[in-house]
Amino acid sequence: MAEVISILGSTGSIGTQALDVIRHLGNIKVAALAAGSNIGLLERQIIEFSPKIAAVADKSAAEALKARLAGYPVKIYSGEGSLLAAVETEADMVLAATSGTSGLESVYAAIQAGKDIALANKESLVCAGSMIMDSAKRMKAGILPVDSEHSAIFQCIAASPNAVKKIILTASGGPFLNTPANELENVTVQSALSHPNWKMGKKITIDSATMMNKGFEWIEAKWLFGISEDDIQIAVHPESIVHSAVEFIDGAVIAQMGLPDMRVPIQYALTYPNRQASLSGSLDFSRAMSLSFQPPDASRFACLGLAYRAMKEKPSVATAMAAADDAAVESFLGGKIRFMQIARVIEETMAFTEPFEPAGIKGYVEWAKEAYKIASSIAEKLSKSGQ
Ligand code: NDP
Ligand code: MG
Repeated sequence: MAEVISILGSTGSIGTQALDVIRHLGNIKVAALAAGSNIGLLERQIIEFSPKIAAVADKSAAEALKARLAGYPVKIYSGEGSLLAAVETEADMVLAATSGTSGLESVYAAIQAGKDIALANKESLVCAGSMIMDSAKRMKAGILPVDSEHSAIFQCIAASPNAVKKIILTASGGPFLNTPANELENVTVQSALSHPNWKMGKKITIDSATMMNKGFEWIEAKWLFGISEDDIQIAVHPESIVHSAVEFIDGAVIAQMGLPDMRVPIQYALTYPNRQASLSGSLDFSRAMSLSFQPPDASRFACLGLAYRAMKEKPSVATAMAAADDAAVESFLGGKIRFMQIARVIEETMAFTEPFEPAGIKGYVEWAKEAYKIASSIAEKLSKSGQ
């Protein structure tokens, strides 16, 4: 159970819901809040939760916040390294909820500081899963999944941790579950941002539409639960009620269910191993409800195959995939490339260099930055060629 927490990405979808949970629980102190540039919301959060430390990645936004909070008892850090200042506090838990590969260094730093991690930033595990899990073991830092599927698996596995046969990772299928391949070519940014079941940050919403998110979660599950990718099966479940399931060696399948409400897995990570009343409503079994499952269509969602390929390769390939996705999603949101070109940018970036094992966390961070640049220039070329 967290007593003092630092929240990286406090102004985002997960960050704001985590603060809802903290307000509701009433007994967790906030040591630090970190954001990118949204200082309007961050200022209100600082005034409500009184952290001693705040971090703002954007330097001019940080200066503006300092001016607004002059005389207020909060130390404000700015710039790229500011997330690390938000990690180095008296907090016993760090909620890693920034989006994209920029979360990697701070997740690793939090583990090295021996803190428990409530992990929303799956990209850090995609980039450097082996290093992160090894160092968590060494530092005895707990990694508590926030991702709804992984929280579900974590809860199911607890029934018989030594008798797991396979993991069933559920997927909503996103807004284009039933969209024919030829129509996927021309989907708009707005339609890709309309997720049927979850309201999330823009990047993960696009990742859900391409199913890159499920590819990332496949890798996330592999590392978190130490299970081969071939023993993790993806099942499309459009209702998003079964958050995932585990099959045990005797054939029994245990699933975790609930309304799609991120405040539940966030709260479980914060209160683990305890459960407390939450802000979520209940599933209504007094009404007819049906749950359906179908296999994913890898031919329309190329990103699933890319994730599988990345898991079979040396780790630079998965890092390249995650960083290229950052760049490709940005280019798509900026109207530069088309929806189906997201997978193409990722694939070309993954193939750009010979696979290798980056040297230490710095090696991963540097390679992620380089792969981001490679992907951005591939996207730029595609955009100019009008292909
Ligand atoms: P959002 O885009 O809503 O929020 C991202 C947060 O990170 C914002 O607070 C943003 O600040 C901050 N941020 C971004 N870049 C930096 C940076 N360089 N330094 C410091 N802060 C930064 O994302 P989500 O909350 O949707 O997702 C966060 C993570 O959680 C992702 O990895 C996602 O995959 C994962 N996740 C999210 C789920 C969801 O329901 N949203 C579900 C499961 C996992 P600012 O607002 O100032 O830009
Ligand atoms: Mg998820």
